[in-house]
Amino acid sequence: MSNSDVAKCPKDKLPEYAFIGRSNVGKSSLINMLTNRKNLAKTSGRPGKTQLINHFIINKNWFLVDLPGYGYAKVSKSSKKVFQKFITAYFAKRTQIVSAFVLIDSRHEPQKIDLEFMQWLGENQVPFSIIFTKADKLTKTKLPVQINNYINEMLNYWEEMPNYFITSSSSGLGQEDVLKYIEDINNQLAKSS
Ligand code: GDP
Repeated sequence: MSNSDVAKCPKDKLPEYAFIGRSNVGKSSLINMLTNRKNLAKTSGRPGKTQLINHFIINKNWFLVDLPGYGYAKVSKSSKKVFQKFITAYFAKRTQIVSAFVLIDSRHEPQKIDLEFMQWLGENQVPFSIIFTKADKLTKTKLPVQINNYINEMLNYWEEMPNYFITSSSSGLGQEDVLKYIEDINNQLAKSS
């Protein structure tokens, strides 16, 4: 189901996992890799395309949610940076959200908007993991250097490094780990309900 309005998202109270990141981070490719589908999520988003929240039901027991990329909303009278309403409303209203996955291109140095978005999630008590994407684009020696660099930056703001995964949609790296992580949480939730 695709929606431009949070109020119209599915009513089902299934556990929900939201994938989000800046445009071109590899989100569509990752969703296709996780689900073993070539074209479930549409790759290479056109800039300016309609921003939709896409709910994919997986194995009839959880929702994989493809969120539009975040950006700062234009707030005229204040210099304070806020994320666009669309995104903040989603996290405020979807109480069935179990965790967000924030996608970070493993080749890039830490970017302010990603760090601020994770901070916003923390302040709003939204649990999240980081998914480093496109690991295949780095050499075996450069990859751990980049990841460590990111961890060090995160530790300037966080007491502990959030849970993270290193993935490649080209090689399938990380697929099992991410899916197992979700499955384990779903099993725990099913037991406790
Ligand atoms: P989105 O805008 O975040 O949905 O990003 P896409 O999934 O459309 O990917 C953006 C570009 O990066 C495309 O050209 C993809 O082919 C490429 N890409 C995405 N993931 C990977 C990956 O794991 N490895 C490599 N080598 N390229 C990737």
